[in-house]
Amino acid sequence: MKTLEYRLGVDVGGTNLVAAVVDGSFRILSKVSIPAGAHRGIDEITGDIVRVSRMAVEEAGIPMEKVSSWGIGMPSCINPTTGLLVHANCFGWKNVPIFHYLEGKLPLPLKIENDANCAALGEALAGAAKGRSNVLMLTLGTGVGSGIVIDGKLFTGADGMGAELGHTKLVYDGRPCTCGQKGCLEAYCSATALIRTAREAVGGHPESEILALAGGNAGKINGKTVFDAAAKGDSLAKSILDDYVSHLTAGLSSFITIFRPEAIILGGGIALAGDALFGRLAAKLPKLTFGAAQIGVPPVLPATLGNDAGLIGAAFL
Ligand SMILES: [Zn+2]
Repeated sequence: MKTLEYRLGVDVGGTNLVAAVVDGSFRILSKVSIPAGAHRGIDEITGDIVRVSRMAVEEAGIPMEKVSSWGIGMPSCINPTTGLLVHANCFGWKNVPIFHYLEGKLPLPLKIENDANCAALGEALAGAAKGRSNVLMLTLGTGVGSGIVIDGKLFTGADGMGAELGHTKLVYDGRPCTCGQKGCLEAYCSATALIRTAREAVGGHPESEILALAGGNAGKINGKTVFDAAAKGDSLAKSILDDYVSHLTAGLSSFITIFRPEAIILGGGIALAGDALFGRLAAKLPKLTFGAAQIGVPPVLPATLGNDAGLIGAAFL
């Protein structure tokens, strides 16, 4: 691919609308962010998506004719057959004909895709998994987002509703999940799940370092508090983390068995824990994974692009 090729990528979130011009070497030439104003109507928000896109092209200092494509990551599944955006919670949108609002508003071919899928594509093309064409990515944050790249292309399944690794069943009839089901991986492996487990556990262990690090206020416990307390040798924190990593390992081992990716990328707040997370995973994963004794397990790597992954992935849809 030529460096002198420019693409426009947009990351639509509930807080900000961000647009970037990316060149053929995956370098970001310009990046513009404006508030999403999520309380507003769809005409105003989509109008601002167009506006921020134009602003990014202007800031890059290149004419629109030199831009070859426009890709947008949205916080929802997009049905590629009907063109409907299925459900964007932050905007209160359900079954919105999103292409109707955006197609033709810039003189560029338009693609729209789920934002977690865009992030996975970005990390596969230009980030932690650069050079690999079979990659899974999970984002361990408020929920668990995911994307699947097979042979260098996103896999999204029928009606674009697949690739939801966060909602695969980890425990039959287990913890309730935000999706309405029970026992999903997200209910055990999101940052929210880790924090909730820790807040509940300190009730029976007021002596725990977790509570001390949170200033005695269980409501102030976050993911980092648990990792920090474990690093100080706190037995409750170590046991909570052990349980958390065991559940995550069980999920990843299943995904490896199904897909045999060349790498798994972990993003989101939890992935910032570094070796405290990745070291524990590397120790457990071979013991739980089919075929590990014969062919090992693929590397589990921290995401490297942060929020730029979604922009680069969107640009290269
Ligand atoms: Zn779920």
